[in-house]
Amino acid sequence: MKLEYSDVKKTAAKLKFRTKAFIHGKFVNAASGKTYVSLNPATGQPIAEIASCDGADVDLAVKAARHSFEQGVWSKRSPAERKHVLLKLADLLEKNLAEIALLDCLDAGKPITDCVTIDAPDTVHCFRWHAEAIDKEYEKVAPTSPGNVAMIVREPLGVIGAILPWNFPIQMGAWKLGPILATGNSVVVKPARQTSLSALRLAELAAEAGIPEGVLNVIPGNGSVIGAALCKHLDVDAAAFTGSTEVGRQLLHYSAESNLKRIVLELGGKNPQLVLEDAGDLDYIARQAVNCVFWNMGENCSSGSRLIVHRKLKDKLLARMLEVAKEWIVGDPLDPATKVGPMIEESHMNTVLGYIESGKSEGAKLVLGGGRTLKKTGGFFVEPTIFDEVKPSMRIAREEIFGPVLSVLTFDKEEEGIALANDTTYGLTASVYTQDLSRAHRVARALRAGTVSVNCFSEGDATTPFGGFKQSGFFGRDKSIFAHYQYTELKTVWMQLA
Ligand code: NDP
Repeated sequence: MKLEYSDVKKTAAKLKFRTKAFIHGKFVNAASGKTYVSLNPATGQPIAEIASCDGADVDLAVKAARHSFEQGVWSKRSPAERKHVLLKLADLLEKNLAEIALLDCLDAGKPITDCVTIDAPDTVHCFRWHAEAIDKEYEKVAPTSPGNVAMIVREPLGVIGAILPWNFPIQMGAWKLGPILATGNSVVVKPARQTSLSALRLAELAAEAGIPEGVLNVIPGNGSVIGAALCKHLDVDAAAFTGSTEVGRQLLHYSAESNLKRIVLELGGKNPQLVLEDAGDLDYIARQAVNCVFWNMGENCSSGSRLIVHRKLKDKLLARMLEVAKEWIVGDPLDPATKVGPMIEESHMNTVLGYIESGKSEGAKLVLGGGRTLKKTGGFFVEPTIFDEVKPSMRIAREEIFGPVLSVLTFDKEEEGIALANDTTYGLTASVYTQDLSRAHRVARALRAGTVSVNCFSEGDATTPFGGFKQSGFFGRDKSIFAHYQYTELKTVWMQLA
């Protein structure tokens, strides 16, 4: 389907927003009656006034979730019935795909082409995959003596708090809710303050699909208020989170201070793209490498923000990347030609620009971009930026920037390249480029990251787990059947036979 800019703008202008909290199957105002304004990052203009929930709303949402869980309206439905409802939700999302895509485009400033071709269809596929998995998993019987039978079964955890980020609003919702709902839990979702619209619409579609009242609740508002209240709540059994390492660390405190709830963290990254001396076609690698860092404006935990390239290849590869980067048009996210939208908000744009200034002042060589652009639009746009001659000690080589900024580092020997790649407190993703199969295996094993892509940039698909080593994650994984396990308790039923 070819998108036309004028059509997209017309459709966007007609969109209706769900702006109230969704608790116990109904849209309701925040208990306090307060609202906050959500801004369009491409214009700086208001989009909608959203319910600003607080602790009282958290209590109501958790109560509704707990009640639904104890009543068994979802948790005790047969696997086949849960599958049926979640497949219906996937169908409804697909039917409303254009709307879902537009909501994230407006709210997060994500390019519409990405929303329509990646985020929204992946969301549909994610729900379908987890739905289909529900009645395919068998439980276990332990190898006991003939006088006993021991069953090892999995049961839903109970009430789960899901705290979402703003960079892939609907898709991260699906990554959390797919396995949480598939395994029979009830859930309270806290979307990012900047991007609540698609989660609220998702809740409505879930109700239409047949998810019972109270099973899926969505409360918008400030993370340090309601995110914290949710994670400290004594009646919440687990919290699943995607966001900054700093807030992730805070969640572990909340758990320790409250009821030792399970915490599943998907955090930041400073991911290496390691190009070895025998890497193949440099034109192909240039495309992969540019996509890896500039896709989603670099507001991506798996952004390959460090290009670690063999000294002999560096100049040639960089020259090709600079050519490819010309195709990364910065502009209105509603324009299908746009590949780079704005930063999520002004303060984040300033953080990214601050990193660019630190790169300059620490002596890295700026070879592309380096500043704010399209200021007249009122939006928070930053030019795709590349620094060459980056030293491992520089801030732009060490800290997650979460913007379209690439640091290029060089090495001479394979071990040195691997050491540079692993020289980070993070460990989410990594790419390695080589034509040698044995080397590819060896280096993939040596890289300390949750997902290693060989000769490409990839986060895998719905079948593969996604999450990090080191300070990129804690306890669990998104996607795949492994995500189901973390939202269940393991129970042994030991029987003495007469
Ligand atoms: P945060 O980690 O602050 O936000 C992520 C989610 O956590 C949001 O829903 C947020 O709510 C919520 N939250 C914030 N404070 C608390 C708290 N004390 N307790 C519970 N929940 C809380 O990320 P930011 O939006 O501030 O972005 C800062 C940086 O985090 C980025 O520059 C990037 O480096 C990283 N990040 C990483 C992401 C990833 O994909 N791993 C995604 C987003 C950010 P609210 O929106 O209301 O603040």
